[in-house]
Amino acid sequence: MPDALLVEAARRTGKIHARRGNAAHALHRRAGGHQSRRADGARISFRVAIARRRRAGERLTIGILGGGISGISLAAQLDENVEVLEKRARIGGLCGSIIDQGFTFDAAGPHIMFSKNKEVLNLMVATLGDNVHQRRRENKIWFKGQLVKYPFENDLASLPKEDNFACIYGYIVNPHADEAPASLAQWSYKTFGEGISDKYFIPYNRKIWNYDPAKLGLEFVSRIPKPPMEDVLKSSIGIPTEGYLHQLYFYYPVEGGYEAIVHAFAKKVRGRICTSSPVTEVKRSGKGWQVTTKNEERRTYNELVSTIPVHELLTVWPDAPKEAREAASRLRYNSLINVLLGLRGDGVPYTALYIPDPAIVFHRLSFPKYFSERNVPHGSWSVMAEITANEGDGIWETNDDQVLERVIVDLEKMGLVDRNDIAYRRVVRFQYGYPVYELDYRENVTVLRESIARTGLHLLGRFAQFDYINSDVCVERALALAKTLNDV
Ligand SMILES: Cc1cc2nc3c(=O)[nH]c(=O)nc-3n(C[C@H](O)[C@H](O)[C@H](O)COP(=O)(O)OP(=O)(O)OC[C@H]3O[C@@H](n4cnc5c(N)ncnc54)[C@H](O)[C@@H]3O)c2cc1C
Repeated sequence: MPDALLVEAARRTGKIHARRGNAAHALHRRAGGHQSRRADGARISFRVAIARRRRAGERLTIGILGGGISGISLAAQLDENVEVLEKRARIGGLCGSIIDQGFTFDAAGPHIMFSKNKEVLNLMVATLGDNVHQRRRENKIWFKGQLVKYPFENDLASLPKEDNFACIYGYIVNPHADEAPASLAQWSYKTFGEGISDKYFIPYNRKIWNYDPAKLGLEFVSRIPKPPMEDVLKSSIGIPTEGYLHQLYFYYPVEGGYEAIVHAFAKKVRGRICTSSPVTEVKRSGKGWQVTTKNEERRTYNELVSTIPVHELLTVWPDAPKEAREAASRLRYNSLINVLLGLRGDGVPYTALYIPDPAIVFHRLSFPKYFSERNVPHGSWSVMAEITANEGDGIWETNDDQVLERVIVDLEKMGLVDRNDIAYRRVVRFQYGYPVYELDYRENVTVLRESIARTGLHLLGRFAQFDYINSDVCVERALALAKTLNDV
């Protein structure tokens, strides 16, 4: 992409609230008790209704919109009266992989299998059977042309001396230590001090969120482990430590990319999975639901679960609650442009590189060969570059050839790639990549979920519930919903 375009994109990013309405931001607040009680009420009346139908000997038919990991892992827990309707020709959704000319890429971004919920992790690993192995994370941060171990605060000694000093000084002499943070940026200053924040955490987060960290709320911080002070001090003088231990070792399919987990769950589905079946209309039909797919095919179900992005659901559901529409219009999300390159040669021994430098267009590189040797043909390696974008920010509007060229130029600048070695190239785009936790996220998402819950329609999954969750949490929630649908 020409630099002029990038500058224009950056200039506009600050002004454009892409992918959301123009409603004024409200103050961040947690869901009120009355809202939770209303959701509980909806759940109880749903259970009573199902119990009544079961007593009357009625067979419960369940429709699931969307064939990503949420929809498929839910269907795998239900009986034969379930039907999954997936828009695309193949299942997988954001867990989907592209397998082309011997190269396998997890197209939305590199995926690793890990979970704080050991039961769920064991289920996912067991579901893969023999097609799984364990790998060790080897992530690095690209800082001023040097590689620093991830997370940044665990390898300060690898920084140039002046930067190391600024980071450790800011960490110890921290004027923000006693402040009560209201945004991601303020949380970073309080937790890490000014050095680590200004050199790494804030520029990196500005890039990955394509948004000002001062306008991001605190929803995300519970996912970021706080380093023990001892580790940060040790890291500054060069005593090795490890951070983010919960994902230091991860599981990954040997064959077929991350999508293999979705296919493994699909094998357990006793009902039907209908691919190439985009849902074009959803409406109430008596006590059940009528769903129309392309070619005007109509189906009716007693219960309906939507795992498709909620913004998509609202476009095909004319009678959706007005307050749900209004709340959704205030929820911001990011899109992704990913560049996939297959190369001749051996490659690098890393899982991923994080790049806070604003002069480089991508925020992360990942190397599928490190996840599984079978992800590349013999004698080859591959790299995926991820760029966060929003409609209207200039980057999203840049055509694929320009994006590809800009990524190759930046990779050459970093000394990682020689364009003569490129054997495969492809650009993929995902409209729904990251839900963005703005300051008023909690308020809006609560209204959205509760107003939809009151209609009896179940939401499940990352963009259906508008929650920045990983595949393990999708499975965890699918198990819980299946229990409700099965056990009542
Ligand atoms: C960059 C990135 C990195 C990630 N890394 C990890 C990781 O390391 N580990 C991890 O566990 N998770 C990771 N995740 C998260 C993981 O990808 C998601 O949590 C998970 O895939 C969400 O699954 P889902 O089924 O809820 O939604 P989706 O995968 O979005 O599935 C929704 C499905 O609905 C379909 N659909 C849409 N509209 C319609 C329609 N009108 N009719 C019918 N079908 C429709 C879509 O085609 C799609 O298949 C990552 C995500 C991203 C973006």
